[in-house]
Amino acid sequence: MHDVRVYNSLKDSLEVFKPIREKEVSMYVCGPTVYGPVHIGNMRPVVVFDVLKRLFKYLGYKVTHISNVTDVDDKIIAAAIREKISELELTKKYAESYFKCLEELNVEKAEYTPYVTENMDGIIKFIADLIDKGFAYEVNGDVYFRVSKLEGYGKLSNLDIEDLKVGARIEENLDKENPLDFTLWKKTDVGINWDSPWSKGRPGWHTECVVMINNIYQDGRIDIHGGGFDLKFPHHENEIAQSLALHGHRIATYWMHNGFVNIDNQKMSKSLGNVRLAKDFLETYGGSVVRLALLSTHYRAPLNFTDEVMNSNQVEYTKIENAIRLAKVRFQLNNIDYQNADLLEDKLNDFINELADDLNTANAISIIFALVKDLNLDIRRNKLDSSARIVKTLDIMLDVLGFKAIDVVLTEEDIELFNKYHEAKSRKDFALSDSIREVLMERKLM
Ligand SMILES: [Zn+2]
Repeated sequence: MHDVRVYNSLKDSLEVFKPIREKEVSMYVCGPTVYGPVHIGNMRPVVVFDVLKRLFKYLGYKVTHISNVTDVDDKIIAAAIREKISELELTKKYAESYFKCLEELNVEKAEYTPYVTENMDGIIKFIADLIDKGFAYEVNGDVYFRVSKLEGYGKLSNLDIEDLKVGARIEENLDKENPLDFTLWKKTDVGINWDSPWSKGRPGWHTECVVMINNIYQDGRIDIHGGGFDLKFPHHENEIAQSLALHGHRIATYWMHNGFVNIDNQKMSKSLGNVRLAKDFLETYGGSVVRLALLSTHYRAPLNFTDEVMNSNQVEYTKIENAIRLAKVRFQLNNIDYQNADLLEDKLNDFINELADDLNTANAISIIFALVKDLNLDIRRNKLDSSARIVKTLDIMLDVLGFKAIDVVLTEEDIELFNKYHEAKSRKDFALSDSIREVLMERKLM
């Protein structure tokens, strides 16, 4: 069996994956805060961890994937006021548009999709437990985490506590014992709020994910916790802090972080006005091309999206699609069941090895392109047996990378057209055969 190596941000090193529960993988990936339509950057962790999940499943693991929806947040309240609808209406609308993007990207449904608003009792109890143990304190209805009581704060982000303090002092809140203490409960009467022992208010973001993991795994322990690099600090650091305080462990064995998506070599930001929405990319290029673009670079490296990059991914994806379609047309015309062909075990093995090496999707994709090249040659030379082996292998590779299956089913009319084409050609009626050929090409069958 293949070992899977992953880069663990907690230790800043590549490690061989060892699950907590034999043959099982538990994985939590922080989901979006649904205050507006998701941008293309939100799709990177979604697609990266979808491929990781598919890889583990291919290798025979049972995977439990949890990905939340954050439906309580200041940005949500502000957007609801702006759009003159309730927070719940707003989050329902944007959660739906997020899930529609996932569907177009052919992302496998997570086993659990917790919403913060559905976990409020657990969140309030968790904060009360932290106060009981002395790791949190209340000031005027707000509750803060007491960072000074915890050993090892800052390990994940590898940041110097003193530097952090200087940064935190800039926006110093005099109610806090220490500038690094973070909010667990915020007293407020603006927007949606809940009753708690401390005040009417709402929870802090960092508590939500820890509680949602706890609801599914009683000991709060999972194999992999994932998200974008921007979540490392403070979000993930603070998740770890709370878990260390209550459970004495750092939630996940492996913390994995993906790089940003840049637009035209610039970081996406509201102030630059270059925030690009996922749905716009999906509308223009379709799910498979966007998926290819998102996987074309190693997940930890920054990914640059430009029109040129997207167009070239479109061209590349069409190459894969055309070769497989044409081969499948030939198989049907010649009554070949390519599913019965032998796999190209060596190639498949190389491909899986690339993915098992900290998800090297870029190298895995180059193996696909090399096979597509071979396939085109085989089709041209009418080597259908060899084509069948390649197509069967490619189908599996594309499935592990999460691409929708490339299928073609010939209608009787299509088959009739092929017959007429061959007849015309054998009669040397090239005018007719050329015109039929054009129709077949238009239908992407030739
Ligand atoms: Zn989270």
